[in-house]
Order: sequence, then C-alpha cells, then structure tokens
Amino acid sequence: MAKAYLPKAALILFSVGVGFLLVAGSDDDPFLGDRREMVRRQIEARGIKDQKVLGALLHVPRHRFVATELLQLAYQDSPLPIGYGQTISQPYIVALMTGLLEVKPEHRILEVGTGSGYQAAILAELVKEVYSIEIIPALGESAQKRLSELGYQNITTRIGDGYFGWPEKAPFDGIIVTAAATDIPPPLLEQLKPTGHMVIPVGNPDQTQLLKLVTKNPDGPPTVRTVENVRFVPLRRSS
Ligand code: SAH
Repeated sequence: MAKAYLPKAALILFSVGVGFLLVAGSDDDPFLGDRREMVRRQIEARGIKDQKVLGALLHVPRHRFVATELLQLAYQDSPLPIGYGQTISQPYIVALMTGLLEVKPEHRILEVGTGSGYQAAILAELVKEVYSIEIIPALGESAQKRLSELGYQNITTRIGDGYFGWPEKAPFDGIIVTAAATDIPPPLLEQLKPTGHMVIPVGNPDQTQLLKLVTKNPDGPPTVRTVENVRFVPLRRSS
C-alpha cells in the first residue's frame, strides 16, 4: 500500500528540488540568458553548428574576462578592450577559430596571445591541455589568476614572445594565434604535429587581415586556406 504513495511523494520532492535548482542556477549566473542569446544569435545564426564549440561558449562565463565597467557589454557582438591597447575577441571569431582547429579531447593546444584568457578557457573545455603565451606580463599574470580562480587546471601560461612558440612543450596537435602576424612564424609550424592545424590572422597589422587555416603536411609544404577577413591587434616582437 505504501508503495502507491511513494512515487507521488518522490515526484513532489523532485519537482521542488528542480524548482530550487533552477532558481539557484539563475541566481548563481545572472548572465546565463545573455550567453544563450549570444550563442543563438551571434554564433549559430552565422552557421557554426559544432555542438561541442557551442557548448563551450555557453559554459564559459565571458563576463568574468572583462573589467567590471564593461560587464554589461560582455555578451555583445564585438571585441572589447582589456587594457594595454589589447582586446578580447568577438565571440563569433572565438567560436570560428576554435571550430577550425578540429580539436579532440586528447589534444594539446598552443595559444599565442593569452590576453584575457577567454580563448584559452574555451579550448580548455574541449581538450586535454592548453598552453598559452602572453607578451605583456600584466595581462598574462591577471589571466593566469583569473583562470585558476575559475578552476581551470589544464591551462599552463607563460610570459614571452609567442612567435617562437614553446619548444619544451612541443609538438602540439593544434596552434591558435590570436594576434595578427605578417607571416606564418616558422617556429610555430615546426612545433605543429603533422596533419595538425594552425589558425592565424596574417596580414598588415594596421589593416584587415586574412584568417588562415594552415595544415601541416607530413611531407612537403603546408596547405594554407583563407577563411575570412578579420581584424586583430598586432603580433608584437620582443626584439
Ligand atoms: N586570446 C585573447 C585575445 C588576445 S588579444 C583573449 O581571449 O582574450 C592578443 C594578445 O596577444 C594581446 O594580449 C597581446 O599582448 C598578445 N601578443 C601580441 N604579440 C604577442 C607575442 N609575440 N607573443 C605573445 N603574445 C602576444
């Protein structure tokens, strides 16, 4: 007899629990709705369908990567300043570049240009290890602090000139450069695994650049495909 009552009681308890979780969830993350809109309108609507990439953009709290004054702009369809004349990329560009890398869970990826750490966090949701280099010490240090506060344990950062890559950690399954280069840096190509992809904006730093997808061939020169016109801050040189 008692059996008949149990499911009902359990159902009530379950509904109360779910209701509580929904309320608690929205309290915890007041930007979840903005993030859903961002993914739907800016990313899916522009043709990015990769569910893993969409999931990462939905999950990473982009508002934690911008200054408090810019909090309300965190999910808008544009890059935003992060200090020192640098920017966090437009969400669509982050999604596009991430998709082009064709990442797998076991991958180790190198990023040149840590900036706010947002792109590194997106990658860290999808791969085993992310290595990220930043040339401006203050930016690299604050990104590192932010990423550990957010609990990312698979991102390693360092300060340095990313043009030369990170030979001690090479080879990488994929490389992403988030600043505009005038050429494809030979040391980066060298540190890429055969058949691996490098995504890099190439061109005049003062103008629009071309986003290139470079695929390393086991024999012979790499295959280079132009994907889209983009505008990035320049890849600086340390010397
Ligand atoms: N990926 C970043 C956006 C980066 S903006 C994000 O998600 O927020 C480009 C960054 O590249 C800037 O922080 C800039 O300081 C850095 N950068 C420029 N030249 C560099 C170089 N040679 N090596 C490493 N980082 C560089």
